Amino acid sequence: MTDSAQTPYTTNNAGIPVESDEHSLTIGDSGPILLQDHYLIEKMAQFNRERVPERVVHAKGGGAYGTFEVTNDVSQFTKADLFQPGKRCEMLARFSTVAGEQGSPDTWRDPRGFALKFYTEHGNYDLVGNNTPVFFVRDPQKFQDFIRSQKRRPDNGLRDNDMQWDFWTLSPESAHMVTWLMGDRGIPKNWRHMNGYSSHTYMWVNAGGEKFWVKYHIKTDQGIEFLTQADADRIAGEDGDYHRRDLSEAIASGNAPTWTVNVQVMPFADAADYRFNPFDLTKVWPHGDYPLIEVGRMTLNRNPEDFFVHIEQAAFEPSNLVPGIGPSPDKMLLGRLFSYPDTHRYRIGPNYAQLPPNRPHSVANSYAKDGPMRYEPANVARPYAPNSYGGPEADTRRFGEIAGWSAAGEMVREAYKLHREDDDWGQAGTMVRQVLDDAARDRLVSNVSGHLKAGVSQPVLERALQYWRNIDKSLGDRIATAVNGG
Ligand code: NDP
Repeated sequence: MTDSAQTPYTTNNAGIPVESDEHSLTIGDSGPILLQDHYLIEKMAQFNRERVPERVVHAKGGGAYGTFEVTNDVSQFTKADLFQPGKRCEMLARFSTVAGEQGSPDTWRDPRGFALKFYTEHGNYDLVGNNTPVFFVRDPQKFQDFIRSQKRRPDNGLRDNDMQWDFWTLSPESAHMVTWLMGDRGIPKNWRHMNGYSSHTYMWVNAGGEKFWVKYHIKTDQGIEFLTQADADRIAGEDGDYHRRDLSEAIASGNAPTWTVNVQVMPFADAADYRFNPFDLTKVWPHGDYPLIEVGRMTLNRNPEDFFVHIEQAAFEPSNLVPGIGPSPDKMLLGRLFSYPDTHRYRIGPNYAQLPPNRPHSVANSYAKDGPMRYEPANVARPYAPNSYGGPEADTRRFGEIAGWSAAGEMVREAYKLHREDDDWGQAGTMVRQVLDDAARDRLVSNVSGHLKAGVSQPVLERALQYWRNIDKSLGDRIATAVNGG
């Protein structure tokens, strides 16, 4: 028997002391259960509602809080408050796989989500990237099709390599990203040992109104490390939560991981005539053209005290752009500006921005009101603008307007205009020939041929071999030999 005065007592959700943690209220020990046992009913009903829908993509992940501090003066490129010299702000990061569901192994081959939320003095800035600088498609019209090809078949509920290669080989713009995915970085050792990239191009605007195009490169200070396919397969059986556990345990033991945040900066006018279309998400800007410029350092040092509250309910959205940062003509980015907040409204409700991981640390003077699960009182005396009761007013003299670019023309459904060196195979081939060493190329051949041998049928298989020959003839020939049992 514990000391009643010392032990916290159980209550129901309304704070009323309950009568038992173990026994339902019945008529006699074997009698019917009474509907008036409100605590039992509350427990059962609450349990049935414990899950929110899992994310359609990036369902399996983990994350932590931390800080971002500026280490270099980039004020000549942006007036964004969080990037000014001496600034420091709190932040949240979430890492994830893409296609796997909740409960799927962390070590499946897949790109990794690399989502960051910076709690700045001018609201939340979200940078929702991946551990890859490029992506499989360049138009949001193809995104849903792409994801369905990576998920499960409607007839048997199985994932299917044939479906994946069918889509990829019919979408040659995927070649650069697929080369990346099938290489060493397709299975990072853990989240601490991988880079993040904005992948998209964004716009930065300085205090004088001058505009620049930027890409973010967030480089791990722990060094890049990866798992071989064999190690990843073994670990998937031993510990499906290998990456989630690694981050949580590293932080708990005081081993806080850090990353150096860099940008590539392209002068605004360069975009029109750059050798690659700078807004095409399947391309990088070679470092030789636009070298990395250091911006700051991020450190993840605080585990969430409740995983569901802080990580499952975390809502990242590329549309959270603060003054000094704007979008670019990257069509995938423009599509994501809508789709992310839309999925949060469905998954965790229209007032998701009031939840602990999502609410800004700065003041929120929004005119939004009501709706399911709203619990913060409105911060405005009258719910409309303009009003005569001291309501907030948009202040563009102080913050400026979202910087844009000029666009005019007929309404069309067209691919991007090709720039001089644009094609779907070139940058993938450069990676194979100039970035990978012999051992990495051997692993690439082994990874691709192993994947193709697992359920890919004709004519998709023949197209896949041609796809690799288009990237690099000799690599494609080696893959064909390996697939055909050589
Ligand atoms: P660089 O030689 O300057 O850069 C090559 C980059 O490749 C490295 O900096 C590193 O990026 C990355 N890398 C190294 N090993 C691997 C690997 N196993 N898998 C994937 N990436 C790896 O050349 P360029 O900038 O001219 O680019 C050449 C090719 O390198 C590109 O076509 C692209 O495929 C790839 N690449 C380019 C990046 C860019 O933004 N320019 C970024 C990453 C890859 P990091 O330093 O970011 O770790």
